[in-house]
Amino acid sequence: MNHPPDTMNAEDLIKALIEIVGPEWVLHEPEETRAYASDALTAYREIPKVVVLPNGEEEIVAIVNICQQRQIPIVPRGAGTGLSGGARPIREGIVLSLARMNRILALDPEAAIAILEPGVRNLAISEAASPHGLFYAPDPSSQIACTIGGNVNENAGGVHCLKYGLTLHNVLQVRGILSSGEVFECGGQAPDSPGLDLLPLLIGSEGMLMIVTEVTVRLLPRPTHAKVVMASFDSIETCAHAVAAIISSCLIPAGLEMMDQAATRAVEDFIQAGYDCEAAAILLVESDGSMTEVDEEIAQIKEILLLNGSRSLVVSETEEERQRIWSGRKNAFPAAGRVAPEYYCMDGTVPRRQMAPLLAHIAQLEKHYGLRCMNVFHAGDGNMHPLILFDGKIIGEWARAEAFGNAILEKCIELGGTVTGEHGVGVEKLDSLCVQFTDAEREVFHRLKEVFDPLRILNPDKGIPSLRRCVEHGRKRVAASDFQSTHLEHF
Ligand SMILES: Cc1cc2nc3c(=O)[nH]c(=O)nc-3n(C[C@H](O)[C@H](O)[C@H](O)COP(=O)(O)OP(=O)(O)OC[C@H]3O[C@@H](n4cnc5c(N)ncnc54)[C@H](O)[C@@H]3O)c2cc1C
Repeated sequence: MNHPPDTMNAEDLIKALIEIVGPEWVLHEPEETRAYASDALTAYREIPKVVVLPNGEEEIVAIVNICQQRQIPIVPRGAGTGLSGGARPIREGIVLSLARMNRILALDPEAAIAILEPGVRNLAISEAASPHGLFYAPDPSSQIACTIGGNVNENAGGVHCLKYGLTLHNVLQVRGILSSGEVFECGGQAPDSPGLDLLPLLIGSEGMLMIVTEVTVRLLPRPTHAKVVMASFDSIETCAHAVAAIISSCLIPAGLEMMDQAATRAVEDFIQAGYDCEAAAILLVESDGSMTEVDEEIAQIKEILLLNGSRSLVVSETEEERQRIWSGRKNAFPAAGRVAPEYYCMDGTVPRRQMAPLLAHIAQLEKHYGLRCMNVFHAGDGNMHPLILFDGKIIGEWARAEAFGNAILEKCIELGGTVTGEHGVGVEKLDSLCVQFTDAEREVFHRLKEVFDPLRILNPDKGIPSLRRCVEHGRKRVAASDFQSTHLEHF
């Protein structure tokens, strides 16, 4: 890229941005911009030179036009709760925060839809829909803070996605600004829309294809009743087997989450959710629907769990108890933050039958890398979140945590799974994508990016690794495996 000299560039840019959004909404002093240096994956940081907070499509178009002419990279940002560095600033670029665009533009209970600006918080959608007996199903654990724009760009999931689907299954229409400054819309409120269906391409595109400015979501009738079963198991294998038994019995629970002992102990210390800390693993299985449906399903779930090795069961009898049990799972990440100075949250997926082998492998890796790991997962879809505990202040510990994480992801691929479940690729998983996809497959990704963003100004160098990077990564892997095979006794 050809840039004008840096300092002049920055000054000109700041002036031009101030003209568009006003001085209050252009941040450029380090004490203001520091807060935007990373997303929730704090190990990857870059203090941005400029953060701009537009309020409306017209302002975004004007900003994009400036950046397009000067080839300045734009990093779109929602709430910055992403866990793969997707919203991490790029040195020579600007951060474009959608935080001010947080209005619910319409909520139509008859059509069961809501039209939202990108900065609307996930939880705010269900809160607004609730008086109409409706809710928005995808519920990431970060839902109190994360935005619908971020959810669309990460194809966010959550506890309820086993039954109700991911963001992709609950978004009807997306509108945004391309890097050319043009408005682009896809999807529609009808069951099918004319033309190529590009919605699945845009959902999960991590800010690389367009800046999302409006999202239309499907709302669902809020179930009148819900109960959760908490089941304890003496071994990880038995617990994983019980998950398979539930799924193969044709039940689709509203939630099916698993936590190992390290996770339950950390959570109990923090939240007192009533978890069985002596169990090797626990399962949380939720049923929702009418009172009769829930009671029938809970009876079936209990029977399956007991037949498949659960040593004790607790069923929530009140809404307060149900919330308390879930609060433990929802606070597992912050609980990890209390056990160690830092944690590195991985996000891999394996076929359900491979969950126990993967956990056994993780236990070996804990010894190999000398780091502890606690495991929480969306067990129903085999999406695992190993939380590697480390102290970044200890020299070399972050590097070991990173290597530990990569080893987990490579094992996920080997077991027939994938390196992302719901947290995206961002900057974190670029090397893993070199392993998972062939050169030809990655080339298709690059060409698609080029169609939407020929100048490569939208979140460039994220999400898709370059050929050069993959060649380099291949060399490092060969060197590492040669080293391991000749120095095995040291591991
Ligand atoms: C404690 C914790 C729990 C979590 N639990 C879950 C979970 O259960 N399920 C789950 O899926 N995720 C979870 N996450 C990850 C994260 O919350 C989600 O990925 C969420 O969707 C990110 O939303 P955000 O608004 O914070 O987006 P950001 O982090 O700001 O951005 C995420 C990506 O989207 C892009 N982006 C954001 N807004 C726009 C826009 N308007 N237009 C174009 N691109 C945009 C950014 O460039 C970036 O690439 C968790 C994170 C934390 C910290």
